[in-house]
Amino acid sequence: MRLLPALAFGTLLLPLAAYATDPNSYAQPDQVRVTHLDLDLKIDFPRKQIDGQATLKLDWKNPKAQSLVLDTRDLKIAKVEALAADGKTTPLTYALAPRDKVLGSKLTIAAPKHPAQVRIVYTTSPEASGLQWLTPAQTADKKLPFMFSQSESIHARSWVPLQDSPAIRFTYDARVTAPKDVRVVMSAINDAKHPLDGEFTFKQPHPIPSYLLAIGAGDLAVKETGPRSAVYAEPSVVDKAAHEFEDTEKLIAATEQLYGPYAWGRYDILVLPPSFPFGGMENPNMTFATPTVLVGDKSLVSLVAHELAHSWSGNLVTMATWRDGWLNEGFTTYVQGRVTEALYGKGLADEENLLAIRSLEKNIGHMPENAQRLAPQPRNTDADDELSDVSYDKGSWFLRTLEQKFGREHFDTWLKGYFNHFQWHSISTEQMLAYLKPNLIDKYPGKMSWDEVKEWVYGAGIPKDAPIPDSPRFDAIDKERAAFLAGTLAAGKLDAKTWNTQEWMYFLDRLPDRPALPKMHQLDAAWRLTGTPNAEIGMRWYVHAIAAGDKSVWPAAAEHMTRIGRLYLTMPVYKAFVQTPEGFAYAEKVYAKAKDGYHPLTQMAVERLFAKARAAQEQSPPKASKG
Ligand SMILES: [Zn+2]
Repeated sequence: MRLLPALAFGTLLLPLAAYATDPNSYAQPDQVRVTHLDLDLKIDFPRKQIDGQATLKLDWKNPKAQSLVLDTRDLKIAKVEALAADGKTTPLTYALAPRDKVLGSKLTIAAPKHPAQVRIVYTTSPEASGLQWLTPAQTADKKLPFMFSQSESIHARSWVPLQDSPAIRFTYDARVTAPKDVRVVMSAINDAKHPLDGEFTFKQPHPIPSYLLAIGAGDLAVKETGPRSAVYAEPSVVDKAAHEFEDTEKLIAATEQLYGPYAWGRYDILVLPPSFPFGGMENPNMTFATPTVLVGDKSLVSLVAHELAHSWSGNLVTMATWRDGWLNEGFTTYVQGRVTEALYGKGLADEENLLAIRSLEKNIGHMPENAQRLAPQPRNTDADDELSDVSYDKGSWFLRTLEQKFGREHFDTWLKGYFNHFQWHSISTEQMLAYLKPNLIDKYPGKMSWDEVKEWVYGAGIPKDAPIPDSPRFDAIDKERAAFLAGTLAAGKLDAKTWNTQEWMYFLDRLPDRPALPKMHQLDAAWRLTGTPNAEIGMRWYVHAIAAGDKSVWPAAAEHMTRIGRLYLTMPVYKAFVQTPEGFAYAEKVYAKAKDGYHPLTQMAVERLFAKARAAQEQSPPKASKG
């Protein structure tokens, strides 16, 4: 067994309210904590900025504290004042530190008198990393401009000055003004019947961490999908979205059946333009979702199962720091699988688990050892890079291992108890373990040793006895793929007419990294994969076709990359292109055209990839091609 870091056990018995040190925030929660946020925002589309007032209610922890330290990034601060109970204001002096590339600018407000509330008047930058501004031309219906936030991981600070750490939870109220005809939504209870009169108010009565603060505004129509759910989307998209997400109430009910009542009231979904950099974002009461899951057959609805599951794992029980991210994503991916199984059957759930397992097995060995750990040792990492396939897929695999070893009944009781015990708190990996040991591992001795648990949480790689689900349909696809590659089965004879999206993904995922060009031509002739409207299939197809040297797919790949800004679907195609100098030059041209439609996070990711590829090319000039 691997030797484990000392920190694993020294800190095991932290009290519930322990302050974890968050290297991604300047906040000093041991001095003072924000308990409530009052926002007054004006959305200014022509200037691509928000004029804001943030009033923070404070709970002073240290009687000797001299200042309130907040996180900001690219905010212009106009004024900071203390607010007395009678509404009287007193100006406060403050200092905005130079901008750190990762953390932004530390805002230090002198407040030795410990005011109950502090108000900051500010303006965001048009380049705010947590906001995207779209012109009418960049939307589906081309009528009104659109804007939306993406605060996770540490981008809330680019549109609100606050203590931007998942360990600090606060309630919030907001008043937002916007041009008439625009509908504004937030990560709070939304009123579908609110008139489009240019002024909206919101209330989030539950304490949330800052990365769940969210706002969206644009030409939004609403369609109910159940008694406590609706979809919000551009008018031309809303019917399609309502159809794709018509099982939302069933998903909520199935999750409640497993883990207890849904705590937040309404569960709505906002479908964003295709530039949204993620699949979904679990903003409380209002999941933000990519339109790339609207494929017409509900085959990618597990995205909703995932975001909904976060209402328990993540939003109700939250990681204390980004290093503990697997508590959010691993638990959520596990719950997503259980809900998928309850609603769509074990076959589909096992297929999705296997897709993740095979991809993790392929990639984990290429990661630095520390990144292979669920709970890595402290590292100097941008919070945006803390979440990886390890958090999601190794994390959920660990929970499925616990389920298998202890039996579903015992494990379900434990997990429900865990959500109950830690609800509305932000916890560390060690606090989770301290709850796991007496309530599951020691309670049913002989099922799994503590060393095995530590190996999963603190060890690199994947433990040897990790259970792998059976999938007869995937086994059949493995055989067909092998026969096709060996030349004993023609492309047209593949049984692919009956394949669902996941089965196509599996077939393509396990093609050789650089398939033979004629094989790709045969597949495309038989199944017309180039130009597929299904972006999950498209991404995998283009990656393999480009690697095979199939230039005929380049224009369709470029169209895919231009249309979709979702990192997971676009970055692999860029990566495939930069492998050759000619492909790299082409990718640069595609990016030059696509850039304006991309979210700041997608722009950053592509530019980072290009810089790396350029450095690699300079280091080892390409050898002459073999033709
Ligand atoms: Zn998630």
